[in-house]
Amino acid sequence: MIEPIAKPAPIKQSINGKCQRIGRIEKKAVTIFIRDCVLDAILDFSDEDLQREIGGFLIGNLYVDKDSGKDFRYVEVEHFLPAVDVKSHSASLTFTHDTWSQANNEVASRFSDKRIIGWHHTHPGLGVFLSAYDLFIHRNFFGCDWQIAMVVDPNQREFAFFQWQQDDVHDCGFVYVPDTN
Ligand SMILES: [Zn+2]
Repeated sequence: MIEPIAKPAPIKQSINGKCQRIGRIEKKAVTIFIRDCVLDAILDFSDEDLQREIGGFLIGNLYVDKDSGKDFRYVEVEHFLPAVDVKSHSASLTFTHDTWSQANNEVASRFSDKRIIGWHHTHPGLGVFLSAYDLFIHRNFFGCDWQIAMVVDPNQREFAFFQWQQDDVHDCGFVYVPDTN
């Protein structure tokens, strides 16, 4: 079991309070916060290959806001790490042993107070959903209830997040955090 780190939610940290809720946010699920600059970096990276699937890791942490009365658990996507040594195809993406070991090394060296909170991959021209194979990956490698997936279709300019809700993985809303400076 991972213990969440106590920290006020970005909605309270932001001076101007301009966080935006986008889509439907399930009350019982872990709320996803993503920073403006990180979202931009992910969408820019997603545009790099419009034929084959590419992907990466969402880096951040699991936090708990204890001030809100109830313990409000949330994840914050704070960095993006492109996956290396992946096997890319037009409709599938495989993370290899090297993909994982490089990602774990990078997190340990560059983001030692963070962890891998989820994964990202693209579906060029196919739309945003989790295929049966994607669900297999999510169940096996991102099985904690706070771990998330993000799918981007760079051709149709769409993206979505997916998260655990009870024992299933559903698409979900998120909170967009504008850069403060
Ligand atoms: Zn997929």
